[in-house]
Amino acid sequence: MEEKQMKFATKAIHAGVHPDEATGAIMTPIYQTSTFVQSEVGVNKGYAYSRTSNPTRDALEKSIAALENGNYGACFGSGLAAIDCIIKMLNPGDEVVSTNDLYGGTYRLFKTIFEKYGIKFHFVGMDNADNIEVYINKNTRLIWVETPTNPMMNIIDIAATAKIAKKHSIMLAVDNTFATPYLQTPLDLGADIVMHSATKYLGGHSDVVMGALVCKDEQIAKEIYRIQNSSGAIAGPMDSFLVLRGIKTLHLRMQRHCENGKLIAEYLAHHPRIDKVYWPGFESHPNHEIAARQMNDFGGMISFSFKGNDIQDALNVVQKVSVFTLAESLGGVESLIGHPATMTHAAIPKEDREKIGVVDSLIRLSVGVEDAKDLIEDLEQALKI
Ligand SMILES: *Cc1c(COP(=O)(O)O)cnc(C)c1O
Repeated sequence: MEEKQMKFATKAIHAGVHPDEATGAIMTPIYQTSTFVQSEVGVNKGYAYSRTSNPTRDALEKSIAALENGNYGACFGSGLAAIDCIIKMLNPGDEVVSTNDLYGGTYRLFKTIFEKYGIKFHFVGMDNADNIEVYINKNTRLIWVETPTNPMMNIIDIAATAKIAKKHSIMLAVDNTFATPYLQTPLDLGADIVMHSATKYLGGHSDVVMGALVCKDEQIAKEIYRIQNSSGAIAGPMDSFLVLRGIKTLHLRMQRHCENGKLIAEYLAHHPRIDKVYWPGFESHPNHEIAARQMNDFGGMISFSFKGNDIQDALNVVQKVSVFTLAESLGGVESLIGHPATMTHAAIPKEDREKIGVVDSLIRLSVGVEDAKDLIEDLEQALKI
């Protein structure tokens, strides 16, 4: 069967991978090698040097490209290295319109690394796509979108943003880390590049740091591969193998993340101590209608705050949980709990933080794939006064 015709679960298991021709090994071998023998000058079997390409990484790049309905994939040493590659496609004087509610590391990369090379970033609330056009001028080259956002679970309309990008001939890149291609495929909605921190759901087992880019267009792909090879921030063969293995159960894990997420969001919404629950599956979520249109389900990322907004309430809960684990990151099989105000968003001044909704009592959950009853029981005992 053509890979393009496969349904998601079949692609997750089969796309990009083939039994090893030399031995018949059904799993892609870890080609832990830097270089490849040439039978004579310039003659090789398709690989010359592992920075440029490596068979294990190649299989993974094809797998992720297939899941995102793209034609080309490129894997990097981290999610930030993948974003770094996109911004290196720009020139001094170019401008970027970016989501304002952004992964902290992305913000740091834009502000503290690329601004000094003469690239200008505008951070814009994109809840209403019309806000974007206000910031577009003749120098704008890229629109950067993250949806759902972290930790406020805001939803940005990818198709509406793509229309604006097309109208002005600007590239649109979407950070699809939170949703994964199981929930949304931005290229189908008109985006030019999809970016992943494969560290999260794609890898799915909290054992690897990696990034990925996928696109449809050959010119964009050539530029990505040129920068990947020139800058050298590639994913290694062992890590590529781990993410390939993770992807084979992506659909199963995501299904359970979504089921558990829904049960826990509903449990929290009815808890007397809890003020707001941020989860795009609620009809009361301000952009629920867009989420329902562009996503297949609503995911396992949830944030919530306490009535009275006392920081101590949040700090007590993150201490008292025992199935949930206090840690940065997300998207693994195990449930994690975090306190954005003192962890992921600590670097942002309190006033600015609170403007986007990251109040002192806000807690973020990455709901794992354990039994939902155990997870709810754990929250129940942690929420008892
Ligand atoms: C983690 C994350 C990143 C950065 O990825 P790394 O693999 O940690 O470099 C970028 N965007 C989002 C949404 C993330 O969650």
